[in-house]
Amino acid sequence: MFKDPVCGKRMNHGKAHITIEYERVAYYLCCPKCQAEFERAPQRYARPELGRKIKGKSHSSYHR
Ligand SMILES: [Zn+2]
Repeated sequence: MFKDPVCGKRMNHGKAHITIEYERVAYYLCCPKCQAEFERAPQRYARPELGRKIKGKSHSSYHR
C-alpha cells in the first residue's frame, strides 16, 4: 500500500493513476488531479517516506 502524497489516499500501487519520480523517489498519485497538483509543487508534496526509493541505475547518468 502506498499513500498519495497530495490527497493522502491509500492505494495499492497497481491501482495508482500514475507514478512520478522526484529526486529518486517514486510517488503514486491516484488521479490526474493529484498528478497536476504534485507537478505544480513537487517540493511541497514530496515526502520520501510516502514513496518508494529508487535504487540502482536511473536513466540519467551521473558519471561522465
Ligand atoms: Zn490523490
